[in-house]
Amino acid sequence: MTKIPGTGDLLALTLDDGVNSEVVRLYTQFAKDTGIRLTYFVNGVYDSWTENTAILRPLVDSGQIQLGNHTWSHPDLTTVSKSRIADELTQNDKFLRQTYGVDARPYFRPPYGKHNDTVDSVAADLGHTVPTLWFGSLSDSTQITEDYIVQMANQYFNPQAIVIGHLNYVPVTHVYPKLVDIIRDRKLRTVNLNDVFVNPENPAKRPGSDADSVDEVIKLQITR
Ligand SMILES: [Zn+2]
Repeated sequence: MTKIPGTGDLLALTLDDGVNSEVVRLYTQFAKDTGIRLTYFVNGVYDSWTENTAILRPLVDSGQIQLGNHTWSHPDLTTVSKSRIADELTQNDKFLRQTYGVDARPYFRPPYGKHNDTVDSVAADLGHTVPTLWFGSLSDSTQITEDYIVQMANQYFNPQAIVIGHLNYVPVTHVYPKLVDIIRDRKLRTVNLNDVFVNPENPAKRPGSDADSVDEVIKLQITR
């Protein structure tokens, strides 16, 4: 899966890893302040996921931020054994259940977007039947400039896009107002994956919007 099915005005911003605890905290504060709906693909190995439970847990409980499985320690799954693939997903599932009380299935995001039939079949046996990739990227898995992040947002914040960003470097935390401007100017509504596939009545309605695109998502859900 690389985009949200159908036509509409939805944007799924998905944020990975969690190398930097301060970035996890500031992104979560950003969500709290703006109502933006997000999916975090967690690597439980990073301290950020235990250090930020107080701010993050309420947003996870309310469904505004969804947590997904990005493996425990971020190996390229196409280069490791079947048992390691299973361990990576299982350990991270266990961590997410114990720390946040959530079941991350059926989605998973393979590190580096790398997966093959073996990876998909081991993951599916564990209930992770939907490898969740992306259509566009903020390109911030390494440290890049604020301007470049905004340029990437301008390029990829489009209707029905799944966009990847990272919880790893500080520059993105300085451009939140610009990201909000792009989302607002393009009349997009942010969603996490459960909003689209599990609870399609949930997406935050922008002021003055009608329900047409939500209906469309519900239809897709039914025929899926
Ligand atoms: Zn990653």
